[in-house]
Amino acid sequence: MYNLILFGPPGAGKGTQAVKIAEKYNWIHISTGDILRAEVNQGTALGLKVKAIMEAGQLVSDELLVEIMESVFVRHALVKGFVLDGFPRTLNQAKALDKMLEKLGKKVTLVLSLDVDEEELVKRLLKRAQDQGRKDDTEEVIKNRLIQYHQHTKPLIDYYREQKLLKEVIGVGSVDDIFTTLCLAIDAN
Ligand code: AMP
Repeated sequence: MYNLILFGPPGAGKGTQAVKIAEKYNWIHISTGDILRAEVNQGTALGLKVKAIMEAGQLVSDELLVEIMESVFVRHALVKGFVLDGFPRTLNQAKALDKMLEKLGKKVTLVLSLDVDEEELVKRLLKRAQDQGRKDDTEEVIKNRLIQYHQHTKPLIDYYREQKLLKEVIGVGSVDDIFTTLCLAIDAN
């Protein structure tokens, strides 16, 4: 099983690339943001719990995320591979992921980190706000999401670099060119 983590700040293009990768390799794309948004839209108990947190651009608790991911792995035990998009986002989540995979006799195969400068990220997120109307793409919330990224998520780069699992890819350019670079990195692994 190939377990790929697509890593990067909000607006780096993880979602777009994760869909293309999952399609090409016949893997399952797991976006924790999409899972949580679906819960919010359906008004489930979990959705009600996380709605305000998401709209404020804060991180949902590690406990909830780990619970969600455990059920994902149980549901898709027999797949060829996963593309994780938006998880893990904290060191606790990364360690919990290692444990979950270990229980299944698996591990993280590769972490591809999309590198995009901050000015470009804000520009893209504001454009997405117009195109998709996501409630957490307002200027104020974007700032908060980037702060969360720097405080909690960016340190994972060192965590995965130390394990020699990290490859950094420039996330600026055409979607297809970035996709080609990502595929080369996956195939080389
Ligand atoms: P995303 O679509 O990945 O940008 O996620 C949207 C929002 O969902 C985030 O701003 C968080 O509020 C929440 N979220 C998604 N994934 C996680 C995660 N792994 N840990 C904590 N919160 C998350």
